[in-house]
Amino acid sequence: MTLRNTSVGLNTTAIHAGEAPDPTTGASAPPIYMSSTYVTDQVAGFSAHDLDDEAGFLYGRWGNPTVAMLESKLAALEQTEDCACFASGMAAATAIFLTFLSAGDHVVVSDVSYAGVAELARDTLPRLGIDVSLVDMSDLAAVAASMRDNTRLVHCESPVNPIGRLTDLAAVAGLAHQAGALVSCDSTFASPIGQNCKALGVDLIMHSATKYIGGHGDALGGSVAGSAENIAKMRAEASIHHGGVMSPFNAWLIARGASTLPLRMKAHADTALKVAQWLESREAVTRVIYPGLPSHPQHELAQQQMSNMSGMISFQVGSAQQGRAIAERLIGHLEIIHHAVSLGHHRSLIFWMETQGLMETSFRLQGRALESYRAFAGDGVFRLSVGLEDAEDLVADLSQVL
Ligand SMILES: *Cc1c(COP(=O)(O)O)cnc(C)c1O
Repeated sequence: MTLRNTSVGLNTTAIHAGEAPDPTTGASAPPIYMSSTYVTDQVAGFSAHDLDDEAGFLYGRWGNPTVAMLESKLAALEQTEDCACFASGMAAATAIFLTFLSAGDHVVVSDVSYAGVAELARDTLPRLGIDVSLVDMSDLAAVAASMRDNTRLVHCESPVNPIGRLTDLAAVAGLAHQAGALVSCDSTFASPIGQNCKALGVDLIMHSATKYIGGHGDALGGSVAGSAENIAKMRAEASIHHGGVMSPFNAWLIARGASTLPLRMKAHADTALKVAQWLESREAVTRVIYPGLPSHPQHELAQQQMSNMSGMISFQVGSAQQGRAIAERLIGHLEIIHHAVSLGHHRSLIFWMETQGLMETSFRLQGRALESYRAFAGDGVFRLSVGLEDAEDLVADLSQVL
C-alpha cells in the first residue's frame, strides 16, 4: 500500500504506508530481506548509469525491499515524492552536500548545527573547494546578505541542536529560491510530525532516523525526503557511489518505530511541556528553552511553524562551574534518566553541553554570532531529551539534583 498523498490520517499513514501483508506467506508484519544480491534475468552493464528504474532489485547498495518499505513510509509522512535512507544521519548530511555541491560552489550553512554537520561544513567542504558561509539562520537579513551568484544550497536546522533556536523555514526557503539555491533542513529535533517542511518550501528534508523516527535507541539511520528528481540524484551519487546505505535490519527496526511516531511525538511533547514548566519553577534553574513555553524567544514562530513541540528541552543553571558540578552530581544520582548523548528515544537522556568547549571543538563563533548563541545557551546547557516515562517520575528524578 503506498498511501502517498491520500486522505488517510497521520496515524494510519505511519502504520500502513510502505507496507502490505506478505503476498507469499500472508505475514501481517513486513519481512526483513537480508540479501545482498538478487537473481536477475536482466543482461546489463555493471554501472549505476545502467540501472533501469523498472528493473527491480539488483544489488543491496542500489536498493533493498526492506529499506524501500521504510523510504515509502517516510516519504508518505513528509508528503514528498520520494525518500532515500542512509547508514546514519551524518551519512544523510554528507549525501546532501556531496550530491548537490561541487568545487567552486557556495553553500550557506546554519552557524549552529549538529556538531558533526558543523565540523563537516567548517573543515571538509572547504578542503574540497566548496565555499562555505556560516550564518545565524534566525537572522533573515544575514541570510539574505549571504546569498551569492554561485550559491547552490542553503542548509538549515530547526530547532537547532543543542540550543533550541528556530529558523523561519518559509522565509529562508523564499530567500534561497530567489537566489536559485536548494534548501535543505535537518528536521531531526522536530521529527516529521513536528513540522511540515515540504509545505514550508524545504526541498530536502533530512533526519537522523537514529532519533525520533526510530525512537528506541537501537539503530542508527538517516533519511532525506524530497522530489523524485532530487532523490534519484542522491541515490545515483551518494547511495551507489559513496555507499553509506542503511542495513535492512536497521530499516526494519526504524520502520517499526516510525509506525508509532505520531503517538510517541504527542506523548513526548505533552511530557516535555510538564517537565519544562517544572524546570522553570526551580530556583537552581536560571533559564529554560522549550519551543512550547511562552518564554521561548521565538514562541510565536514555533506556534506558526510547528504542529508538535517535540521533547527537546535545554536549560541553564548559571555558570559553567555550576553546570559541571550538577552534571557530576546527576551521574551518580539519576535513577531513571540516562546520562548519555543522543535523543528522541523512549528513555529520557540528559547531557551537559558547555558553551566554551563547543566553541572550541565545533562552532568557533565570534561577535554577534556568539552573542546569539549565548542568548539561548549562556555558559552551557543541559540538553534533556524527554522520553516516554511518566512526567512525575522524571520530575522526581531531576529534583534529586536540581
Ligand atoms: C544525531 C543528529 C545527527 C547525526 O545523526 P547520526 O544518526 O548520529 O549520524 C544530525 N543532526 C541532528 C540534529 C542530530 O541530532
